[in-house]
Amino acid sequence: TVRTRFAPSPTGYLHVGGARTALYSYLYAKHTGGNYVLRIEDTDLERSTESAVKAIFEGLEWLGLKEDEGPFFQTQRFPRYFEVIKQMLEQGTAYRCYCSKERIDNLRAEQETRKEKPRYDGKCRHLTDQDISQPHVIRFRNPDEGSVVWDDLILDRIEIANSELDDFVIARTDGSPMYNFCVVVDDLDMRITHVVRGNDHVSNTPKQINLLRALNAPVPQYGHLPMILGSDGQKLSKRHGAVSVIQYRDEGFLPQALLNYLVRLGWSHGDQEIFSMEEMIELFDLNKVNKSAAAFDPKKLLWLNHHYIKTLPAEEVAQHLEWHMADQSIHTGDGPALADVVRAQAERCDNLRTMASASRYFYQDVDQYDEAAVAKQFNATSKAALAGLLPKLEALSDWNAAAIHGAMDAVCQEQSIGFGKIGPALRIALTGAMASPSIDLTAELIGRERVIERVQNALK
Ligand code: GLU
Repeated sequence: TVRTRFAPSPTGYLHVGGARTALYSYLYAKHTGGNYVLRIEDTDLERSTESAVKAIFEGLEWLGLKEDEGPFFQTQRFPRYFEVIKQMLEQGTAYRCYCSKERIDNLRAEQETRKEKPRYDGKCRHLTDQDISQPHVIRFRNPDEGSVVWDDLILDRIEIANSELDDFVIARTDGSPMYNFCVVVDDLDMRITHVVRGNDHVSNTPKQINLLRALNAPVPQYGHLPMILGSDGQKLSKRHGAVSVIQYRDEGFLPQALLNYLVRLGWSHGDQEIFSMEEMIELFDLNKVNKSAAAFDPKKLLWLNHHYIKTLPAEEVAQHLEWHMADQSIHTGDGPALADVVRAQAERCDNLRTMASASRYFYQDVDQYDEAAVAKQFNATSKAALAGLLPKLEALSDWNAAAIHGAMDAVCQEQSIGFGKIGPALRIALTGAMASPSIDLTAELIGRERVIERVQNALK
């Protein structure tokens, strides 16, 4: 069965590029009924941090990409790496190299002047008498002849001559294992069948395949995803706006919107734009992933966000809105059900952060009024209308939008004024400004007691 993995290095937040890699690995596993493994590649002790590990977990959890196995941490697997290195030394697929740093540097410099690719020359390949107490690294004995070929699931056939590779280091002088080596031992032990990762790893793949062969291990299939670009065609970076998944959460996006956005960023199914998670799982396949880089389009992401705000069950959107309300210190215990607020605001708001700030008045008293709107809408006529509305609101037997609207119409009739003399004034009284869902619904949700109190305050 298929086994995929997502293997982030915890050196920062979960980037949208990483999230897409995780999503594709996850989807391919689910699509094929396989397993998706999470592995934290934290062997770079200088750059890996605990907080980055947390940030990655937080991002994946928010997206809902739950691993079937793991998380595994490379730093907990050192005994295993040492064991494999020992085995390779015994079998001769790896060897100790005693060359000094100066020698390697000089070799590099010479090769550079000859315009050659830097490459270890194999000086220590055949040492017979060794003093292993002397400082040394461990090198992989790369094949001399032939080439490494793989049929990339995305980039098609790639062939690299072994003469382009060299006997790369798999363990440092202090014995610590190197990146490509750890990845290989992990992919082997975790029985990974499909490696999906960014194409910045293409140059590692021939080394990893050679290592796997030396270990007599099956070689997984590889699929290298194209880069994500900003709107200007440059690699997506902070200059283009948010790049961290958590930042998208904080800025008011739904995970469904980001997932849907990411699945389409490099993959397509005809011209379909909207995919539920179930559809993604059913339809996703690696062979339909684009070869060329895709540009990030914030407008489209916002469009998707609005789509999901409008179409997901309001109760589900409300859970995410609740987070933003709390984030903005708006307590929602006392007031309308948040799902009703979502239903009222969905058409107007394409973003949950702004929906939260635009929903403050459902839960908190108005302490600030839009002065320009007050100046324009509050005059003797509209104040008289609001004053006439108060007893009618108090007397309503049912508190709902239709009844409230009826009361407002009755005031207009009695005072021979148009709705425009009462609607805007009521809106300002209840919300402090001119932007809200329809005023009768807004009043219904705010509740009778608070509505009356706020109208009285506005008339003071
Ligand atoms: N740890 C690597 C990264 O974060 C990924 C390695 C892999 O997928 O093989 O870029």
